[in-house]
Amino acid sequence: SSFEAPDYLARLNDEQRLAVVHGDGKVAAPLLVIAGAGSGKTNTLAHRVAHLIVKGADPRRILLMTFSRRAAAEMAKRVERIAGEVLGRDAAITTDALAWAGTFHGIGARLLRDYAEQIGLDPAFTIHDREDSADLMNLARHELGFSKTESRFPTKGTCLQIYSRAVNAQTPLGEVLGSAFPWCAAWAEQLKELFAAYVEAKQAQNVLDYDDLLLYWAQMAAEPEIAAHLGSRFDHVLVDEYQDTNRLQASILLALKPDGAGLTVVGDDAQSIYSFRAAEVRNILDFPKQFAQGAEIVMLERNYRSTETILAAANKVIGEASERFTKNLWTERRSSHKPQLVSVRDEAEQANYVCQAILAEREAGTALKAQAVLFRASHHSGPLEVELTRRNIPFVKFGGLKFLDAAHVKDMLAMLRFAENPRDRVAGFRVLQLMPGIGPSAAAQIVEAMATSLDETLGLARFRPPQRAAEDWPVFLDIYSGLRAGPKWPADLERVRLWYEPHMERVHEDAATRRADLLQLEQIASGYPSRERFLTELTLDPPDATSDQAGPPHRDEDYLILSTIHSAKGQEWKNVFVLNTVDGCIPADLGVGTKEDIEEERRLLYVAMTRAKDSLHLVVPQRFYPHNQPARGDRHVYASRTRFIPASMLSAFEQSSWASATIKDDPRQRPGVKIDLGARMRGMWK
Ligand code: ATP
Ligand code: MG
Repeated sequence: SSFEAPDYLARLNDEQRLAVVHGDGKVAAPLLVIAGAGSGKTNTLAHRVAHLIVKGADPRRILLMTFSRRAAAEMAKRVERIAGEVLGRDAAITTDALAWAGTFHGIGARLLRDYAEQIGLDPAFTIHDREDSADLMNLARHELGFSKTESRFPTKGTCLQIYSRAVNAQTPLGEVLGSAFPWCAAWAEQLKELFAAYVEAKQAQNVLDYDDLLLYWAQMAAEPEIAAHLGSRFDHVLVDEYQDTNRLQASILLALKPDGAGLTVVGDDAQSIYSFRAAEVRNILDFPKQFAQGAEIVMLERNYRSTETILAAANKVIGEASERFTKNLWTERRSSHKPQLVSVRDEAEQANYVCQAILAEREAGTALKAQAVLFRASHHSGPLEVELTRRNIPFVKFGGLKFLDAAHVKDMLAMLRFAENPRDRVAGFRVLQLMPGIGPSAAAQIVEAMATSLDETLGLARFRPPQRAAEDWPVFLDIYSGLRAGPKWPADLERVRLWYEPHMERVHEDAATRRADLLQLEQIASGYPSRERFLTELTLDPPDATSDQAGPPHRDEDYLILSTIHSAKGQEWKNVFVLNTVDGCIPADLGVGTKEDIEEERRLLYVAMTRAKDSLHLVVPQRFYPHNQPARGDRHVYASRTRFIPASMLSAFEQSSWASATIKDDPRQRPGVKIDLGARMRGMWK
């Protein structure tokens, strides 16, 4: 043809190119790319999407699902850049055109609103986060009397976990209890009743929880007529990080593309780390078996990310895994530095070490942005955040916007949600009880009146408030009916705040700091096109937290990245630190873990290590607070290096111990006097 091979194909290796041109832009047989970390899977996927577009595919008919909204946005940008090279900047597609790039949950929410009428759903549904879901579960628990009669009945959190596991794994309750919650097996009957009540409550209130977004989608997609319609909307469906999808997600894909035509999935079984959300590594291994025509399988073997020494250490760690499909990778990136295993006294010292190492790297020319600190659980970065703040080192913590959990922010969001969906009980309860004189029973009455009235706002207006609420009530009614009747976004948020502030001041002493949070919320809200999108996206994918009170840093500012290992999936940095590389943290929960749980923790460490391009530091504090609350009497434990790096692997690392100058504690330097303060104290009262 007269069409010249675009340059972007020349940049790829043979296997990557095979995956990119598979079908040459047409709807083709299913494709599976399965390969280790840093082998260019995501990069290949971006090139494949760009190639489809270059060859004439309509970007609006491409469904692209990634593991976070951030990853989706980055992918869209990359696609735009690659396609732009060929099509020319002006003709180039914009990221907006790739309209269906997002997470499974986010895309699910959009499709469900879109098809609400067909499936008997009110499109004004609101989405419950885990905490709301637990609250609703609790309500159902109380109403059934289980919490009273059965004092050892599972907690609301456990109930929700069991429910969620059964839904996502598409597994009968009995089996879930037997395999994952044996200590709850005695309550199987009550749990069934409870879950039925929970489902009914959600439907009556027009709320969906996280799992429903997938469950409803799967059910909708199983309906042949809707399935055909849905499937025909998208010519190409592509999924990154497929090893972390669960059975529901697999069934959704299968319903969209029953013969697999136009389907591409990529992933790495050695990086499967979401079994607690019922992810099934079997999904990726069984992918080709689902289709009569099988699937084209591409394996990548060359790693482009990490130096050979980092890769060698990571390969050693994962090499001990009991089960693994993907093979070890090779790289051409030579290096004379091995990854470092740094022993420090405790977590405070760990924070000191990381800060000074980061600053040294910055001196040497590595921007903060090219460096990341990874940890197992969000609260593990506490001591480091304190130290970074003290030293004025700016940082962004992925997904860590904790203030969303603060009572005052939840109050504000509840008001918006209640306005969006007047049947949302958890939201309604919260909002109504903000007013003095309205307690749980009055709130229940009001919500009941609203539910039984044809027009919720009218039902609300009929309520006769008790004396103490007489003054607030009309003001509330006015604001609320305004929000219902004609939402003005984002100006509404300010109206709600002005109404809310006096209530906040009455309850909270530190109203001034809390007010700053509310202003920040307004700032965040202004980035969303509508109230519905704001509420949906905030619930599904909370924004990142920053060290800067004024809000997220500008793009050209330099800041360090803090992230849980789970949220760091798919990303890479020049310089990576892993905190608390000790038994009890990675792996966590030594006592209760099954063999499979422990294996998943090994993969977690592998994911962490393979984020590093040039240098990797695993920090090993000798003392460690598992819950990170030394002030509340949390006892530290004496920790030792993670079992995933046994003595036989030490040759892959450079070992050192580190102590900051200020804490050197030499007993010989102590003063010679000896006093008994205890005796003195006791003597004071004699
Ligand atoms: P992970 O398993 O961690 O998600 P991955 O397999 O998705 O990793 P990518 O993130 O796509 O890997 O790529 C890793 C790095 O290698 C990126 O910096 C990418 O730009 C680079 N890379 C990938 N393919 C090539 C190539 N053919 N030539 C040069 N660099 C490449
Ligand atoms: Mg990737």
